[in-house]
Amino acid sequence: MRAAVLHAAKDLRIEDVPERALGADEVRVRFGAGGICGSDLSYYFKGRVGDFDVRQPLILGHEVSGTVEALGTSVSGLAIGARVAVNPSRACLTCDYCRAGRGNLCRNMRFFGSAAIFPHVQGGFSETLIARADQCVPVPDHVSMRVAACAEPLAVAVHACRRAGELAGRSVLIAGAGPIGILLALVARRMGAAFIAITDLVEAPLAVARAAGVDETICVATAPEQLERYEADKGYFDIALEATGSPQALASLFKVVRPGGRVVQVGMMPPGVIPVPANILMAREIDFVGAFRFHGEFQTAVDYLSRGLIDVTPILSADMPMGEADAAFVLAADRNRAIKVHLTF
Ligand SMILES: [Zn+2]
Ligand SMILES: [Zn+2]
Repeated sequence: MRAAVLHAAKDLRIEDVPERALGADEVRVRFGAGGICGSDLSYYFKGRVGDFDVRQPLILGHEVSGTVEALGTSVSGLAIGARVAVNPSRACLTCDYCRAGRGNLCRNMRFFGSAAIFPHVQGGFSETLIARADQCVPVPDHVSMRVAACAEPLAVAVHACRRAGELAGRSVLIAGAGPIGILLALVARRMGAAFIAITDLVEAPLAVARAAGVDETICVATAPEQLERYEADKGYFDIALEATGSPQALASLFKVVRPGGRVVQVGMMPPGVIPVPANILMAREIDFVGAFRFHGEFQTAVDYLSRGLIDVTPILSADMPMGEADAAFVLAADRNRAIKVHLTF
């Protein structure tokens, strides 16, 4: 099968790789669409994500949908021909976190397309991929392969909003209008947030956020005072969600969250120690929590998409054939032109 294999930074090759044998509890899925994620971009441009270097050829991709074309001998409940969103989290299902329903914190996680462990876990940008049957969630025919591939980032947003606590009637600030930031806004709205503001350094994605129904967009590069006015009277927002991975953005959130509010870290920060305004956190009794990937929220995300409860079309920027993967990665990294780019074979 052909796959998009990263050998080093900016050395992505479409090449033949051997297909491994199907396990009894696994299915083989023919690739439908695959979204390019920020972590894929980091691997492609830098050869690493956070502290994890690409040390051997790595098939990228973890936002994948497709069609089931072969079943392992013990698989039931999935049929050949089923259109599925593939959950890239292959949790062990047996450790204490898995058994407690927090599989995103699994001690033995094998997440597709990740250099976090060695040998690396290969990803889903390939003509076929093999996943455990429980990783494949059927989607109805009216959900396109591109939309189905959005289940993964949408699940990230659903999990982060759950970590934010009650959202109904609340005022919510989101830092970063990338794919995750805009999906956070869509989920916060679906969960009943009364007022949603979003910040970014670039105007183009803020226009997409407006089209997605965000109440106020703030370009902190050109109009920082628009955010600073929320610092008055010990802050304004009930909830702030950090989705930029920028230390400066994180620090700014503590100034605009009201006493008793909550800050959720969703974005991945640069390696090392990031400063936090601990005295504001202390004096305002702000809760500061992390949100990492998702667990049961993958099914929730598929349900939202299948029932039309969340419309992700505002973030769909382009789809490009795998043979033009280099151009697709360059486009996906251009924040003036794209939010989410998908690959197809
Ligand atoms: Zn992703
Ligand atoms: Zn586990």
